[in-house]
Amino acid sequence: MSRKSIKDRLYNNDADIKQRLFVLNILTMQIVLIVTLIEILITDKFSLDAMLLFAMMLSILLAGIVSVKSGHIRLGALFVAALLSFGYFPITFFKGGGINGDAPLWFIYNVFFVGILMSGRVKYLFLSAQVLTAIACYVTGYLKPEWIVPNTDLMAHVYSLTALILISIAISSMIGLEIRLFIRENKLSEERKKEIEALNASQNRFFSSMSHEIRTPINTIIGLNEMILREDISDEVAEDAVNIRSAGTMLLNLINDVLDMSKVQSGKMVIAEEPYSIGNMLSEIVGMLWNRANEKKLEFHVNVAPDIPYELIGDEIRIKQILLNVLNNSIKYTKEGSVSLSVQCERKDENNAVIFFTVKDTGIGIKKEDIPYLFTAFKRVDENETRHIEGTGLGLSIVKQFLDLMGGKVNVNSIYTQGSTFIIEIPQKINGDKLIGEVDFEKSRTIAKLKEYHQKFEAPEARVLVVDDNELNLMVTSKLLRGTKVKIDCVSSGEEALKKTLNVPYNVILLDHLMPEMDGIECIRKIRTQTGGLCRECSIVALTANTGEENKALYVKEGFDGYLLKPVTGETLENEVLRHLPQELVHVIGGSQEILEETISWMRSKQIKKKVIITTESVADIPDELIEKYNIPILPHKVSTPEGLFKDGSEIDTRGVLSYMEDKEHTIEPQAPNIKEHEDFFAMQLNKANNLVHMSISSKVENSGCPKAIEAARAFNNVTVIDTGHLSSGQGLMVIEACKLAEEGKSAREITAYVEDLRHKIHTSFIVENMDFLARSKQVSPRVANLTKSLMVRPVLELKKGKMGLGKIYLGSRKRAWKKYINQTLSNHLRIDNNILFVTYVGLTKKEMDWIREQIEEKKIFKEIYFKEASPAIAANCGPGTFGLLLRDK
Ligand code: ADP
Repeated sequence: MSRKSIKDRLYNNDADIKQRLFVLNILTMQIVLIVTLIEILITDKFSLDAMLLFAMMLSILLAGIVSVKSGHIRLGALFVAALLSFGYFPITFFKGGGINGDAPLWFIYNVFFVGILMSGRVKYLFLSAQVLTAIACYVTGYLKPEWIVPNTDLMAHVYSLTALILISIAISSMIGLEIRLFIRENKLSEERKKEIEALNASQNRFFSSMSHEIRTPINTIIGLNEMILREDISDEVAEDAVNIRSAGTMLLNLINDVLDMSKVQSGKMVIAEEPYSIGNMLSEIVGMLWNRANEKKLEFHVNVAPDIPYELIGDEIRIKQILLNVLNNSIKYTKEGSVSLSVQCERKDENNAVIFFTVKDTGIGIKKEDIPYLFTAFKRVDENETRHIEGTGLGLSIVKQFLDLMGGKVNVNSIYTQGSTFIIEIPQKINGDKLIGEVDFEKSRTIAKLKEYHQKFEAPEARVLVVDDNELNLMVTSKLLRGTKVKIDCVSSGEEALKKTLNVPYNVILLDHLMPEMDGIECIRKIRTQTGGLCRECSIVALTANTGEENKALYVKEGFDGYLLKPVTGETLENEVLRHLPQELVHVIGGSQEILEETISWMRSKQIKKKVIITTESVADIPDELIEKYNIPILPHKVSTPEGLFKDGSEIDTRGVLSYMEDKEHTIEPQAPNIKEHEDFFAMQLNKANNLVHMSISSKVENSGCPKAIEAARAFNNVTVIDTGHLSSGQGLMVIEACKLAEEGKSAREITAYVEDLRHKIHTSFIVENMDFLARSKQVSPRVANLTKSLMVRPVLELKKGKMGLGKIYLGSRKRAWKKYINQTLSNHLRIDNNILFVTYVGLTKKEMDWIREQIEEKKIFKEIYFKEASPAIAANCGPGTFGLLLRDK
């Protein structure tokens, strides 16, 4: 073994670890034996021992070389171990001083050698044999001490010391090598992991750019083909065009499936968790499949249990994809009879349910032996029967992978030639108490029928700008919209688009994303902030070949009002443009106006986005009826207790906090949502509006969510955070004012300017029973709290310049103090805005509230008085027996 080859053998990553350890063992053993031989030669000169040792050395070396070269490591190790354990060890024991020599150390080495180089039953057999040999040697040595050649004192010390040193060096270098090899392997596997990740990333990039590149020409093919179909053409040409359409659609589906597969396999597929209406989702599915089933003269039944929650939280798009795949298969593989979808729900608890979708057909069925292969990618079963039916064998594999990601299941029952049943179970969260009730899917069928109509409206006064660097795409888009008579301008770059938006107030801009020089993102930013621009507030729709949730999220974030994926059909394009056009410019044509308008309103209720949405936190203490009236999304604060963290309102209520705090030892710490929670909240709400104004609790109070909201808003360019400088219903009053402005159609900027001004007109104050709770939440010192309590002082907490501080102090009985507080707060009634008063309370009885209402109503100031129990986070600071009058100046 040359030096190079030894090193190679030790560090050759392709070689088995056992082989490498064997090589190392042979080497260390050779060194140990050489040193021992020299030792013997020095002390004993030329003796039988020396010759024996030399022979052993040679045999071990030979065994090593032969077994490594021939690849029989196990055999080589077995031979060497046998030689050492049953030859070298007993000889050394009897010839080298028994227990006073170096034999015991050799025994340890032998056990170590066998332990690391052998495995399985042979290893345990060997170890037992070694132990038995040792016992035999020791017992014989004890009974027949004369059989042992004694070492001189000097020799005993020298042998023992050298064996000790050599064997410990040998063992430690072997362990060292193992550790080094382990580290190396780890590093290598880390590097391989990185390589695989890089490979995956480049594969993903490849797939998404391939998908983008293929979509662009398909857009032209499908679009222009649709124009041919709209013309007055012969049946033969029409048949060809229909075939082109189905081939194009198939190619597109294939690209989508391959893209999904690559995403799932690279772990990039993220399952969304967003609220959705299951009824709307099923309507859409039925609408899409009704025609196909009809064309094949199949009956299509839909049966939805009325006790299914109206709104669920999960990934609507993926669930739709799952159902479409399975239902499409059922239609595809059924020649006659029926296809049915039934939906049922099993509630797990208040917030969770499992939804069961059962798809049943009377089709060709699946052989029992084929069922295990149904979900394998690219596998089509029963090829004789299915060869003539279009398909790639990807659909069910994607279904299975999506279900795995969602924690769902699919079961298949099938009778060959008679039909199949696919039962899909998907766990989903429940959003709200509303149930779906009896749904009339006949409506979806009407809508499906309507989809046969090509043109729904005309809007000759409307102006649309199409921006795309690809001339053919421009041509397709404008041709597809030609029938609507909208005035269309086409430009092929962001620069040109900006020139247009400076002079023409477009109703809709269809904007491509990937363009050279200025891309769609830069372009929309510039349009929205263009000095003197006429399209700053206009609807801008991304019309792009970029697929994927991450792109969609990007468009929402950048303030696009819609997203259309190329290739786009005339119908989708028309619907999207229609969605953004002012009603007065649209003339509905063709078919029955009534049904058509129903369709449009159906589309609108689902998709239309508000200009501005106002959001706030649970600590704004807004009465429920107003939250509902203005549809205000609320981000919950949390309260942290030693038992865990609870979401304000949904997981813990004010009463829960108060009863928990009855125990003086219990502490509660209110916690604002973190940056990520704010980001998720903003992103979700931006699905409903183009701009978001978030009204946050004063940044100067303890545990404020404001700095986090501001930080989170940096990720968006259409989110404005307003530091209200107030809390509780004072903050709530500002939210209501902002909502009124949003309803009037004011822009985010106008709303912001107004409410910033309003901040100084709001009065936020609370009269509290005592300061115990404030002391417990460490807002004031326990000394101050005890002092005010012992003096029977009832303090008023007031918000001044954003900070909570001590205001007036009332002495005497509770009612006396309350009366004084009410009188003084409302004394300046000429300055007070008399529209609305919020009375926000913690731990008051009905009787006490009635009394307070009487006192206020006596003054005859307010048109509307709302009583609202303070949120848990506020209650944790104030304690029971607290209420506040929150109002604004004129
Ligand atoms: P494909 O694109 O071939 O339809 P899928 O993955 O969706 O791929 O389905 C895999 C195979 O399972 C199909 O090729 C078909 O043989 C069989 N299959 C799926 N659904 C049904 C069904 N409802 N009835 C009969 N066979 C089916």
